[in-house]
Amino acid sequence: SNKTFTMIKPDATAKGHTGAILDQIIKAGFSIKAMKWTRLTTAQAGEFYAVHKERPFYGELVAFMSSGPIVAAILEKDNAVADFRTLIGATDPAKAEEGTIRKNFASSVGENAVHGSDSDENAAIEGSFFFSGLERF
Ligand code: ATP
Repeated sequence: SNKTFTMIKPDATAKGHTGAILDQIIKAGFSIKAMKWTRLTTAQAGEFYAVHKERPFYGELVAFMSSGPIVAAILEKDNAVADFRTLIGATDPAKAEEGTIRKNFASSVGENAVHGSDSDENAAIEGSFFFSGLERF
């Protein structure tokens, strides 16, 4: 597929990095197909991250992701999922390549600035979580 899904996480919106992150995403060749500024309730964050329910950091992750505003977006580019994971860098910013979004803007493995879908299937599921058919043009 040529689509992926991203969120700019609460650490990055709180620090005022939203514009710089979107600029880096667009300059890397992604086009924005849908986008919203919103905030997740703890229940919504828990549902979004339900696949991680058994992980030790699940409670922390849900609390963090509902702690402030996020930007959710559907992005389009050839090879979108893989290319976006390359653009954002490793989950832990300390291990992320120079120039990646997480290297540039993330502070820790938990508060790591951005989300990027890990498969075409999850990109579709995650996009549908935030956007109706009419909003995904
Ligand atoms: P994402 O799915 O957000 O793109 P990822 O695929 O790089 O991240 P996962 O291992 O799927 O990483 O973890 C999902 C999210 O859970 C991470 O982005 C991070 O916010 C949080 N997380 C992962 N590991 C930890 C940890 N050890 N402590 C706290 N939070 C963590």
